Amino acid sequence: MSGGEQPGLLPVEEALARLMRLAEAAPIGETERVALADADGRVLAEPLVAGLDLPPWANSAMDGYALRLADWQGEPLPVSQRILAGSAPGPLQQGSCARIFTGAPLPAGADTVEMQENVELEGDGRVRFCEPLKPGQNVRPQGQETRTGDQVLAAGTRLGPIELGLAASLGVAELAVRRRPRVAVLSTGDELVEPGRSLGPGQIYNSNRRLLIAWLQRLGCAVVDGGILADDLGQTRAALGALSDVDLILSTGGVSVGEADFLGLVLREEGELSLWKLAIKPGKPLTFGRYRGVPVLGLPGNPASTLVTFGLLARPYLLRRLGVQRVAPLGFAMPAGFSWSKPGKRREYLRARLENGRVVPYPNQSSGVLRSAAWAEGIAEVVEGTTLAEGDSLRFIPLSEILG
Ligand code: AMP
Ligand code: MG
Repeated sequence: MSGGEQPGLLPVEEALARLMRLAEAAPIGETERVALADADGRVLAEPLVAGLDLPPWANSAMDGYALRLADWQGEPLPVSQRILAGSAPGPLQQGSCARIFTGAPLPAGADTVEMQENVELEGDGRVRFCEPLKPGQNVRPQGQETRTGDQVLAAGTRLGPIELGLAASLGVAELAVRRRPRVAVLSTGDELVEPGRSLGPGQIYNSNRRLLIAWLQRLGCAVVDGGILADDLGQTRAALGALSDVDLILSTGGVSVGEADFLGLVLREEGELSLWKLAIKPGKPLTFGRYRGVPVLGLPGNPASTLVTFGLLARPYLLRRLGVQRVAPLGFAMPAGFSWSKPGKRREYLRARLENGRVVPYPNQSSGVLRSAAWAEGIAEVVEGTTLAEGDSLRFIPLSEILG
């Protein structure tokens, strides 16, 4: 598997391991309490511990009739009370059953529920149980989901709809979360123009700014939009100097080999800089540095490279700074719907779809082609130094795994 590893090129795992160490050394540790309504996408700062049993009391899983099975001899039973969800029943009268509805508390003394479809009502209102009964059937016992004192979510969990629903089920109205990371986004390049303006000769529209800002917002970051940075030393120095109080500076472009890299120049002067050459495609040049103590990640400028390096490296880095342990996207082994005959020196991340259960790459995998990713459902990993025949399996990472 490592046959294609090239001296001088940093394997993806090694780059990720470095980034994890850097992230752990720069945690964004401050916390704040937010209402559940504002907690989606945030990272839990303290474990969520159940303050009550769930369910808090035994209740019926069905609309039907509750009885005490040990006292029942098989005869029809009179109905002694009617229990709706939200009511507080008295104890079950001996020798009777209770009409009960889904989610209603079981009366003390009852232990079994028969669903209404399996009973017959006698002329005198008594209930005949027609099917054999099992003790405890159709009863949701107190604490069957959670017991008071259980840890239901660990610190470092990312909160989404499910976690918010779970917290709500425990009556929790606010959660302690890590504060939002403040991330400055800079797009470098003299050729870049914002949408809405007209293009001059040699110019292109800035796609990375929108890509990254929307993505960072989904990740729960507060974005400081640094706009476009011209390829100019003075402007770069001024733009960096104007940034205050951010946790990360994220730039794109200007890291290609041989290009005058003004961000790099300023970082060397006023901070530190290391240039990594990654065994990743699209991607390869990645900058990690510090500006006045603030970490800087410089991603390659081609939009598909920005996508892949942000998704596979910068995103886990940011999440780890927030204390998230499980930062790796889930990937699945899927059969290739293509062959790969020339082993690569870099790990390739193909923008691909699943068609008939097979991985099909977009025909144009150029790093400048963002449309490949819009067409794709995921990225498929072709490991450096390997070949693939059709039907061989490779790792497929759904885009949904990294886009939030
Ligand atoms: P660079 O790393 O600056 O040499 O950029 C590599 C390629 O990505 C060039 O073709 C750039 O025009 C392009 N590029 C850089 N930044 C952006 C951007 N923000 N949006 C779209 N394309 C970009
Ligand atoms: Mg450039």
